[in-house]
Amino acid sequence: MKRRNLIKGLGAGALVAGLAGCGQEQVSTASSKNQQTFRWKMVTTWPPNFPGAGVGANRLAKRIEKASNGRIQIKVYGGGELVPAYEAFDAVSSDTVQMAHGAAYYWKGKAAAAQFFAAVPFGMNAQEMNAWLYYGGGWELWRELYAPFNLVPAPAGNTGTQMAGWFNKEINSLEDLKGLKMRIPGLGAEVLKRAGGTPVNVPGAEVFTALQTGNLDAAEWIGPYNDLAFGLYKAAKYYYYPGWHEPCATLEAIFNKQRFESLPDDLQEIVMLSCQAANNDMLADYTAQNQRALRVLALEHGVIPKPLPEAVLRRLKQLSYEVLEELAAKDKMVARVYASYREFQHNTSQWLAISEKAYFDSRLLDN
Ligand code: CA
Repeated sequence: MKRRNLIKGLGAGALVAGLAGCGQEQVSTASSKNQQTFRWKMVTTWPPNFPGAGVGANRLAKRIEKASNGRIQIKVYGGGELVPAYEAFDAVSSDTVQMAHGAAYYWKGKAAAAQFFAAVPFGMNAQEMNAWLYYGGGWELWRELYAPFNLVPAPAGNTGTQMAGWFNKEINSLEDLKGLKMRIPGLGAEVLKRAGGTPVNVPGAEVFTALQTGNLDAAEWIGPYNDLAFGLYKAAKYYYYPGWHEPCATLEAIFNKQRFESLPDDLQEIVMLSCQAANNDMLADYTAQNQRALRVLALEHGVIPKPLPEAVLRRLKQLSYEVLEELAAKDKMVARVYASYREFQHNTSQWLAISEKAYFDSRLLDN
């Protein structure tokens, strides 16, 4: 209750400040807009109520409703309930629905550069991505990229660092990747292909069966929380880390540009603040749930995650940079986004090496 009042109070303050100095006519337009109720539909790329990402989308809708005191009401649809999951981008672009929740790498067919706003192999983690998006020029490039599609994007969730995945055989050397049939989407798929593997894109709901029946030798999904929920430990023996292909996945909210811009200023601010809250909230949720699930996997199911060998990671990293450079050479917008991303990652690595990493290493020292 306190929180709602606080936000309401902020909204009223912003409105007063915004009206100061306006003519009478503008005041009446603003106040009629201020009383309007906006009923929106949000489609998502997630199965309905999917733990983590889907729940985060539900919470985002509720938060916007509460913070706006019901002036924006949002009905959330899981993937396939209103439009197929991978048509969310078009549905918002064409104003079939007002907003969507998903991940930018799903739209690489629309704009290759979109992938940089979700996950990049050997790219930035959640902390670095947020720094780049909010304070390193990343979000501006993202808005520019989506503007021709009539869309406004906002960071609205993060899974944190993922796992490398579940494997039916041990990975001891690069040789073990040859011929490996693995569920892995996005840029990571191209990297695995160059390492001699066979990437397959299987929707989340089919991963378990494909792995269990031997149609797949390996599959990456997300991390302990979602992997435990899917029962993947029953379908494959070896669980590897780290998720080199998804050092984090930034999730997005996308808005139809006209619909977003037709909101009064205070509601635009509430929507964006709610996205920022969702971004932070989901990372906290994943971190809390992953550590719990990791314990359950170990204590109840005997799953002990293994690190990928250094030589394998080193080669995958080389191949990742090859893939990114080639993509940048083919597409002007990728070249611009990648230049910004790469420079930010380079600089932030220098800082994180002597802060987060040095500190974390010291925390793990033997007593
Ligand atoms: Ca994944």
